[in-house]
Amino acid sequence: MIRKFLKRVFDKPKRVVIPLSQHGIHKEGVSSCARKVTSSLQEAGFSAFIVGGAVRDLLLGKRPKDFDVATDADPDEVRAIFRRSRIIGRRFRLVHVMCGADMIEVSTFRRGHSPEEEEDGRTDAHGRVLADNVFGNQEEDAQRRDFTVNALFYDPSTQEILDYHGGFSDLKAGKLRMIGDPATRYREDPVRMLRAVRFAAKLGLKLDRHTEAPIKTMGELLQHVPAARLFEEMLKLLLSGHSVECILELRRAGLHHGLLPMLDVILEQPMGERFVMAALKNTDERIAQDKPVSPSFLFASLLWHEVLSVWKAAKDKGGKPYPALFQAMDQVLDAQQEKLAIPRRYTATMKEIWSLQLRFMQRSGRRPYLLLEHPRFRAAYDFLLLRCESGEIEQEVGAWWEAFQNAESGAREGMLIADEAPKRRRRRRPRA
Ligand code: ATP
Ligand code: MG
Repeated sequence: MIRKFLKRVFDKPKRVVIPLSQHGIHKEGVSSCARKVTSSLQEAGFSAFIVGGAVRDLLLGKRPKDFDVATDADPDEVRAIFRRSRIIGRRFRLVHVMCGADMIEVSTFRRGHSPEEEEDGRTDAHGRVLADNVFGNQEEDAQRRDFTVNALFYDPSTQEILDYHGGFSDLKAGKLRMIGDPATRYREDPVRMLRAVRFAAKLGLKLDRHTEAPIKTMGELLQHVPAARLFEEMLKLLLSGHSVECILELRRAGLHHGLLPMLDVILEQPMGERFVMAALKNTDERIAQDKPVSPSFLFASLLWHEVLSVWKAAKDKGGKPYPALFQAMDQVLDAQQEKLAIPRRYTATMKEIWSLQLRFMQRSGRRPYLLLEHPRFRAAYDFLLLRCESGEIEQEVGAWWEAFQNAESGAREGMLIADEAPKRRRRRRPRA
């Protein structure tokens, strides 16, 4: 009891104020919508700050993806200040404030859970927190965040940063450090292990020793995270623009086992690894060039070699290519759903990309012309190129399709290749 009390007194975070002269964030880097939201809340008598990833990214000289605001106003009070706003979420209520096409997410200061609540049944049998929607003060709001660099509050009107956990100096030192006891925080929410890997890779930060150590033994806890949440977090990781580093890091930390069932298998067979890595590299390059990337394409790539092996097994048992492929696709997706719930809107496109692969092998008659007209031709063709690049199929097939697409329509006829489907051998006449 006394130990707990002393720990609370000594561990009490000290608030440090970092002035403009030290942090150097230009107000202009902050979206005008976010500035408007904080100043309107402040004029109404509330405190309001830009918080989380945006402050971190501004300090790193990166353009933030979005701006989140934290305030002591409750959702109804926020809603009353902004005409174009709405409350979202039932359990954990947030307010979305719109200015033009811009949207700012405003959340009321919350606190994490206390040990008493743990006994109250607010955690599952593995210590994962099930409820985290209790309002709190700013200090508590900083405490419930994951990493010190994600817990900085920036006030655009005073241009000061408030730092409760040394996030500013950690960032300057290139360090990613968990707030509080890392093992406890991973137990509360195992997804934080994936976040650690993602932020380290994406921001070029080094995991603090104590933040890194428990991951080796706690990876198994990811099994208890709901599949939909795991999908969301995995998608963020794959679309971080640094997916190659992230996957390598996941492997190094041993987190790829069981997390993405196919990933264990695929990364451990050279051909599959080459294909997945080529797909990830391609995604990272597209993100660096501000080109759109499709989650369906990405997940289709991740699962392709699994589909191939199930397909092959079905064909070996005498299945016809098309039905066997469809059966393999369903089987692989079903197995995947339990761990990582890929939403239906993506799986439909994934199946199209996969099934079109078979049609690339047919280069005679009307078929190639019809394939060019297919709405998913582009995605399926890019996928085909990855297969060539990884050595799964002959380069020649990709080159042919490139030439066929670009050829004048009159020249296409001459490019057609007689049916590649294995011809039935004539039965030899029995020897006399
Ligand atoms: P990104 O640039 O990838 O969006 P971010 O830091 O903004 O990075 P979000 O997932 O958008 O990440 O979360 C916003 C903030 O909410 C984080 O900066 C962090 O303070 C807090 N947060 C998010 N997820 C967790 C979590 N699992 N545990 C504790 N805090 C979290
Ligand atoms: Mg964010």
